[in-house]
Amino acid sequence: IEPEAFRLAAANMVDYVIKYYCDVDKRQTFSDVKPGFMRALLPESPPDRPESWQEVFSDIERIVMDGMTHWQSPGFFSYYPSSASYPSMLADMLCSGVPCIGFSWASSPSCTELETVMMDWLGKAIGLPECFIHGGHGPGGGVIQGTASEATLVALIAARSKTIRRELSRDPNQRTHDIVGRMVAYTSQCSHSSVERAGLLSLVEVRRLPVKDDGALEGGVLKEAVLEDRKAGRIPMFVCVTIGTTSCCTFDDLEGIGKTCETEDIWCHVDAAYAGAALVCPEFRFICKGIERATSFNFNPHKWLMVQFDCSAMWVRDSTDLINSAEVNPLYLRHNTESATIDYRHWQIPLGRRFRSLKLWFVLRMVGVEGLRSHIRRGVREAKHLEELVRCDERFEVLFPVILGLVCIKLKRPGSSLEDENDLNERLYDKIHEDRRIFIVPATLNGVYFIRICTGSTHCSIEQVNKCWQVITEMAGEL
Ligand code: PLP
Repeated sequence: IEPEAFRLAAANMVDYVIKYYCDVDKRQTFSDVKPGFMRALLPESPPDRPESWQEVFSDIERIVMDGMTHWQSPGFFSYYPSSASYPSMLADMLCSGVPCIGFSWASSPSCTELETVMMDWLGKAIGLPECFIHGGHGPGGGVIQGTASEATLVALIAARSKTIRRELSRDPNQRTHDIVGRMVAYTSQCSHSSVERAGLLSLVEVRRLPVKDDGALEGGVLKEAVLEDRKAGRIPMFVCVTIGTTSCCTFDDLEGIGKTCETEDIWCHVDAAYAGAALVCPEFRFICKGIERATSFNFNPHKWLMVQFDCSAMWVRDSTDLINSAEVNPLYLRHNTESATIDYRHWQIPLGRRFRSLKLWFVLRMVGVEGLRSHIRRGVREAKHLEELVRCDERFEVLFPVILGLVCIKLKRPGSSLEDENDLNERLYDKIHEDRRIFIVPATLNGVYFIRICTGSTHCSIEQVNKCWQVITEMAGEL
């Protein structure tokens, strides 16, 4: 494709994306396609001869769009949002348009340097303690991972290495795999499945500790588990604290857990994948009380901070812990400025990495921190509005305090068993899902089934929340 043809095609594409956003409310949020639909629409083999851009372009709508779940649709109240903004898209265009693989400082100095400064900017914007800010000298600092799952895995692997080194310094005759076999990591039963997965991948046992009906892990529960394991000769070495659990947006007792981690020499990782974005607003920083005790902290700007996937921001108190856990140094990756620079390849699992900090740079500059605060506050207002609507309808109950953009509700059936009430709510969920006007997902806690509605997505508004509530009440009325 020649430059002029690219210019025309790119203009088509930009127009298409703009139109998509203008008309996304007309699309059905959740698709009706059946598994395997795509194979019937595509040839069995790739074309031998090049096809024209127009042929490819016309197939986007015909082949792809029917099978999309429209995360940017105003009817999307599912999971947690996936951000989108034009500044972030512009940065992605530049990232793809001028590609580089910035695994080391030398492989593309701007890629590393912008990321270091942007992680400082973002860290300051969310009020992180000074120990996480690089400031040009470290040892604390930030790195952009692809996902929160990777951040948890990187933290757990670093904690594992640190623990092995510590144990070997106490008794060099121990075997590494015996040490790993005695290690225990902790998290709550409400934490994201990625924590359990990090344990499976790193061969460290993860104990999922119980929570009460408020969905939060208490410091005392952790302490008891740690003491019990120490007594049994095991090695407590990692805790993943969740600030904003996936199912109910509750907040673990970071302050209490952090104290135990300090006294017991345990790595305290904070997974604030969704809720971390709200820290741009000073009034929500109370959810992270005790953050100065954390060893590492992570949140996903790509969830709620107007940055497109993938951008998962991770900070560590001491980056040497990451570097020491998986350092390999073949000659072809070395460069003569290593001692004075960051090589992010040591801070992550893959070698290759995209120039993702461009997205943060563009969004932070073109939206501004005040603009981001307005965006978060808008999502919270929408959730509070929905909470109010639900509380005015005595058939329903709101299950957890609505602090950020998640509202968890269920239909009540006084006098009936938990099973019957769960069954009623499952039927309500099925009806809402089949209706297709809105897309939400259910969750459970301690055996209670409920429906979770997440506001704050790109095109959400009070009007859309009213429409969402209308669908829910209409479906409830039909039960
Ligand atoms: N942690 C929490 C609390 C989450 O809510 C999620 C996803 O919603 C994740 C981790 C996983 O995020 P990622 O897809 O970035 O790995």
